[in-house]
Amino acid sequence: MSSTGGGADGRSDWAGDFACVECGRKRLTAAAFSKRSIERHRTANVPLKCTACVEAAAAKERAAAAAKAAAAPAPADGGGGEVVCSACCKPRPAGDFTRAQLQKGAKARCGDCVAAAGAAAAAAPSDAWEARYKEAKEAARKAEAVGTAAARLAAASKVAALEGERVTGLKPVVLGRGGRGRGSWRGRGGTRGRA
Ligand SMILES: [Zn+2]
Ligand SMILES: [Zn+2]
Repeated sequence: MSSTGGGADGRSDWAGDFACVECGRKRLTAAAFSKRSIERHRTANVPLKCTACVEAAAAKERAAAAAKAAAAPAPADGGGGEVVCSACCKPRPAGDFTRAQLQKGAKARCGDCVAAAGAAAAAAPSDAWEARYKEAKEAARKAEAVGTAAARLAAASKVAALEGERVTGLKPVVLGRGGRGRGSWRGRGGTRGRA
């Protein structure tokens, strides 16, 4: 230890007087260390490590712990290798769960439930479309009754866009032909409500 921290209260002398045993940097100021390590260095002559090294070591430790957790077999509650699925609430053999699911602990879902959720998600878009279409129609109806020209235009084009989406499976960029029903908002270039 070559640092001279032994002085009584010479705080102003600290600057540039510390060295990190980890990275070997010398002439560091007290600001490069945590207050606690300075304190421990002064009182118990604990080797100093700069905050950067302490941080790096902590990050390494966290990574190692995470890797260890990933490699370790999932903790089965109650033994017997069964895990209770958080979705269907049934105890199932750990083999019914993916490792990723098992790592969620109490929130783990069994393979069946994950598959079911995936199927539901895949089926969702058409349902979502119905809901959006209904909503748009409703909005258009209301706008027709009480809305301004701009509001009617916006509502009607929303409905038309949804219809187009349904037909092509794509969001229409331009609704060329086939705009059915009321043509009130079509073919009037000057009435665009939005700038
Ligand atoms: Zn260091
Ligand atoms: Zn389940």
